[in-house]
Amino acid sequence: MDLTHRPRRLRQDRVRGLVSETRLEPSDLIAPVFVDATTDERRPIESMPGHERVPIDDAVARVEEVRETGVEAVMLFGIPESKDPEGRRAWAEDGVVQEAVRRITDATDAYVITDVCLCEYTDHGHCGPLEDGLRTDDDHGPARDPTLTVDNDATLESLERIAVSHAAAGADMVAPSGMMDGMVAAIRTALDREGHEHVPIMSYAAKYESAFYGPFRDAADGAPAFGNRRHYQMDPANAREALREVRLDVEQGADVLMVKPALPYLDIVGTVRREFDHPVAAYNVSGEYAMLHAAAEKGWLDLEAVALESLLSIKRAGADLILTYFAEDVAERL
Ligand SMILES: [Zn+2]
Repeated sequence: MDLTHRPRRLRQDRVRGLVSETRLEPSDLIAPVFVDATTDERRPIESMPGHERVPIDDAVARVEEVRETGVEAVMLFGIPESKDPEGRRAWAEDGVVQEAVRRITDATDAYVITDVCLCEYTDHGHCGPLEDGLRTDDDHGPARDPTLTVDNDATLESLERIAVSHAAAGADMVAPSGMMDGMVAAIRTALDREGHEHVPIMSYAAKYESAFYGPFRDAADGAPAFGNRRHYQMDPANAREALREVRLDVEQGADVLMVKPALPYLDIVGTVRREFDHPVAAYNVSGEYAMLHAAAEKGWLDLEAVALESLLSIKRAGADLILTYFAEDVAERL
């Protein structure tokens, strides 16, 4: 028996740290924050224990809570006071995100990233205005004719307006999440035209049509009123397509490349890391958070341990940045 090679030598307690390959830091983490224009008080999000929607008046306090844990960056999501078929409140100068960004950037040094999409702002809950002829009251519309879905090119114009309005309010980075073709180029051009050439774009470059988003839809009121998002988000079966999507976003000027969700798609995170030189972000989504909490509540898992192991695994797979609902809890323990 040849035991020249004994990997266990380097697993002794005093040397483990020296040979550790992956380290998680609070500066790797981005905390999602939900600002709700329809409420005067904080509202717990039932399927995401520990998270709340906060009123605009509490946005600064909420971000300060995040920063106290050592996490410097937040991703803002807004719940508007009213919705319509086009999602017009998404680019309103006095919109919920615009107002929250102004207050947060005035009062704190947080790095503020904004979600650029329409699903929280449209009354049908899709990520853009619908093609002509698609009736929002028709449960079977999209299934009967799959060509009838979100109007890609009309959505681009709205995304340009949203991104510019966020940058004008002071957003440090914008993050388009709608998986519309050409969205990064459209936003880059609009930002540059309006003098925001220094604002980077974190593109949701490979975003899958995932069942793990369920709890987020409680949090942000963004569930589609009919149909689903499979005509614009990616098929979970496809990995090569993710590289095509990411390559297009790189060509269009994306600064950071995001994969969403994270844990069920670590192969994609790893491949994007190897194929591209850009920073890679992964979104550890609401369902990934909720399932660990649910199991911990039953006493089946140790929440702290599985949360930390999840984030470490996402980083080991190749993510530089991790958006996660565990950001504050984990950062405090690092
Ligand atoms: Zn959306």
